[in-house]
Amino acid sequence: DAHIEQVAKAKELNAFLVDTPDHALAAAKAADDAKAKGDTLAPLAGVPLGIKDLFCTKGVAATAGSHILEGFKPPYESSVSQRLWDAGAGMLGKLNMDQFAMGSSNETSAFGNVKSPWRRSDGGNAVLTPGGSSGGSSAAVAARLCPAATGTDTGGSIRQPAAFTGIAGIKPTYGRCSRWGVIAFASSLDQAGAMARDVTDCAILLEQMAGFDPKDATSLDAPVPDWEAGLSSDLKGKRIGVPREYRMDGMPAEIGALWQQGIAWVKDAGAEVVEVSLPHTKYALPAYYIIAPAEASSNLARYDGVRYGQRDLPDGANLQEMYAATRDHGFGDEVKRRVIIGTYVLSAGFYDAYYTQAQKVRTLIARDFDMAWESCDLLLTPTAPSAAFGLGEKSDDPIAMYLNDVFTVPSSLAGLPAMSVPGGLDKQGLPLGLQIIGKAMDEQGVLNAGLALE
Ligand code: GLN
Repeated sequence: DAHIEQVAKAKELNAFLVDTPDHALAAAKAADDAKAKGDTLAPLAGVPLGIKDLFCTKGVAATAGSHILEGFKPPYESSVSQRLWDAGAGMLGKLNMDQFAMGSSNETSAFGNVKSPWRRSDGGNAVLTPGGSSGGSSAAVAARLCPAATGTDTGGSIRQPAAFTGIAGIKPTYGRCSRWGVIAFASSLDQAGAMARDVTDCAILLEQMAGFDPKDATSLDAPVPDWEAGLSSDLKGKRIGVPREYRMDGMPAEIGALWQQGIAWVKDAGAEVVEVSLPHTKYALPAYYIIAPAEASSNLARYDGVRYGQRDLPDGANLQEMYAATRDHGFGDEVKRRVIIGTYVLSAGFYDAYYTQAQKVRTLIARDFDMAWESCDLLLTPTAPSAAFGLGEKSDDPIAMYLNDVFTVPSSLAGLPAMSVPGGLDKQGLPLGLQIIGKAMDEQGVLNAGLALE
């Protein structure tokens, strides 16, 4: 009841696109009934969650923050959300997000941006971004509208919004969480994960989201460890790498200071800190912004006005004109930009120069990490190159916006687990995040280092 009330009170944040209080109440009632009967409670019995609008939820609108999917009520449930309901959780509602998860500020949503509950302490009136694309999730958790939420991360969309709002967020190893029923952006990168107030809650939630799913051909067929039981903030015997190439020119001094603070904290927890090199880091963003749009242009071809959501049928239009009108009105500018870039880099004549080249770079970046693991177990970096910026500050400059992902994209290209944990506040009192990157399948190591940092 308290959460439902909070959701209703915090409408100005624009975090929820759809409220589903009955779903949450049914889960709470089931938990109460089980308790009354003396049954053992399910791991998430009665926990009210926010669900990013990228997840298909049976009979409840799923728009991916777009007009083109307005009115689409999936006839099925995503595997991840089904697992959560099976674990006893309920849904408070669907969370706003950047359109088709493309963006870093939540400003590309067709339903208006989300507002961060944070303000700069100097009294400036700037309304800040909660980050993106999982900005509804980060704002809702930070404003205590829900105790935890699902997010998805293709190039940083769980970690950067977590950093911007002072919460914890983990993207597991690629394949840990099923993509079945998660509206696709860039399939070789998309991964669902957990966003919550702290590392322990992330471990508890992720444990229920993860697991093999025969319906997703890229699902990892591996047991999910009991991450919560394995939590320990003792880092004795762990070597934590600090990648030299992440010390970017022009990085704000407070981000450098945050990083130093994180290094001191992991040392206090018993870790040995070593400098490592990830030499291809500077090619990660250009490679990502070729591969992700390429996959997106293909994935988004299905929105043709025939199968889902909106259709624009001008008088006397033929089929081609119907497609064009639907896509013109249904997609926002950023989505169109990605479809155009993606189509271009995949076209005959440019494919080898761009797409094949980017795939080769992706392999080199994955190899950089493999090399680093010879001298360390985990990596520690800042999550984002700045604190949350004001809404509108970067929306006219896609390159400035893409630069936000500089620290999160390399681990996405390599499919590695990575987490953002709150690392303190900047001079304006805004939260900053520290990122831990781990070896494939080592979510436990990532969570434990996160616990030592929080
Ligand atoms: N900001 C990045 C992009 O726009 C990452 C988004 C994401 O991880 N979904 O592509």
